[in-house]
Amino acid sequence: MTIETILPTPDVFSARRVLCVQPHYDDNDIGAGGTLARLARNGAELFYLTVTDDLMGIVDPSLSPEAATEALRRDQAEAGPIIGVREHHWLGYPDAGEYNYYALRRDVLKYIRLLRPDFVFAPDPWLTYEAHRDHIQTGLAVAEAALFYGLTRIPSSDPAVDAAYPGHSLVGVAFYYTREPNVIVDVSDVWETKLAAVRCYRAQFTPAGMEELLLALEFKSRQVAAGMNFEHGEPLKVLHPSALHCGI
Ligand SMILES: [Zn+2]
Repeated sequence: MTIETILPTPDVFSARRVLCVQPHYDDNDIGAGGTLARLARNGAELFYLTVTDDLMGIVDPSLSPEAATEALRRDQAEAGPIIGVREHHWLGYPDAGEYNYYALRRDVLKYIRLLRPDFVFAPDPWLTYEAHRDHIQTGLAVAEAALFYGLTRIPSSDPAVDAAYPGHSLVGVAFYYTREPNVIVDVSDVWETKLAAVRCYRAQFTPAGMEELLLALEFKSRQVAAGMNFEHGEPLKVLHPSALHCGI
């Protein structure tokens, strides 16, 4: 038995300013690129925040960390205009490494108070069998920050941002990479757009690995759209921020 929250599911397509927090350079586009492309076409402003330096997944062993970062940024700069990303921000935590959860939460609080989004996107930290700690920590930090952003006694990582924060309302949180979706977004019209953006991430995938990923995305998008009147879907768990505490 699933007990749904009593709060109504916020409408993702009401979003005007969207903060998309991803553990690695490609997660937003792989997990929610179709939804985000639709939002950008709708006139929403997209802000991407990348949590880790992503240096562990680089396929070319000859690249120095500096050259690898350059390659990752180049890929992201190519994908961004395809989806319609307005700004990129980076935190640079060590990919698959040790870092402090509370420091990350303070950084997410900073960007929520600085950019004042009405929606935030992140990986679902409660995805069953998710083993990658970067994904779990990122999703949890976003969930907690979405609950606490208005409690200004909880400091962010930037006192100046906290001091200047005028207050605002976050309408919803959308978790991608979820097994418990409450919204399946029709991304059929932007499916090729999403795949074109994903194809840009060449630093992290061999050509064969990329083809496998695209096939998996194709299969999954059709699987979640089964029984719907569209071809390609993206599953999201969309919640009101207040629904992120005590199951209400
Ligand atoms: Zn990732």
